Amino acid sequence: MAHQARKRFGQNFLHDPQVIQRLLAAVAVQPGDQVVEIGPGQGALTAGLLEQAGRLDVIEIDRDLIEPLRRRLGDSARLQIHQGDALDFDLRALTSTPASLRIVGNLPYNISTPLLFHLLDQLEVIRDLHLMLQREVVERIVALPGTKIYGRLSVMVQARCAATELMRIGPGAFKPVPKVDSAFLRLIPWCPPRYGLADPAFHARLVAAAFSQRRKTLRNSLAGLIPTELLEQAGLDPQARAEEIGVADYARLANLAAASGVTA
Ligand code: SAM
Repeated sequence: MAHQARKRFGQNFLHDPQVIQRLLAAVAVQPGDQVVEIGPGQGALTAGLLEQAGRLDVIEIDRDLIEPLRRRLGDSARLQIHQGDALDFDLRALTSTPASLRIVGNLPYNISTPLLFHLLDQLEVIRDLHLMLQREVVERIVALPGTKIYGRLSVMVQARCAATELMRIGPGAFKPVPKVDSAFLRLIPWCPPRYGLADPAFHARLVAAAFSQRRKTLRNSLAGLIPTELLEQAGLDPQARAEEIGVADYARLANLAAASGVTA
């Protein structure tokens, strides 16, 4: 029986061969690359990735898609299917080589932000990521300071990776047709780290606090977390708002706080 797409798993399957080819060309997998696909679904991207890489790991939550995927792609040792939740998956179990994994996924949009943060936590084993996301989410990720859409997601992702929107994909490329536009995003972890965060957990708290009340001044939104003098020491205007502060500025402020011992 044909698989009924499941809303709760964010299933919108790619079916346009031209779009699939463009996406695969953008990822440009080379033989021997260690590729991990998140949410292979019915295998739209999987077949091409497997052919190009020679072997592939995939993580799929929907048990009912596993057998059809094996039938479509052959039950070969070259394809490792991990049935489970990508949000719990430890990529470090797949490799001990730093910066080796190439992550590809047309992600379930309902969990894209937590999944992104889960991937950011494992960046040391990741070489690059190519992710299809809701267009608005990609726009927020690549946004620049001073814009309305620049926020926590922009700072947290850009502090760790170079982020590029590669292409926009209309709803017609998917079945069922989603209500939103999509975009394909490339993330390449800064290596060596561009901002050298002394205390990543504190940096995350600082950025979350700054943007939790984006209409407030930094002096107010960060009160309780760091003293105003530290803002001035970092060369920042305490009257500025979160969206006016660049990625490098947040990193500098967090590092200054760590060095001053106020992060505990
Ligand atoms: N890659 C396929 C394509 O492009 O046609 C399917 C994309 S569909 C948008 C998202 C896929 O992710 C579905 O196969 C869905 O079952 C799977 N999925 C959803 N939540 C997941 C999770 N937490 N962990 C792993 N896979 C998940």
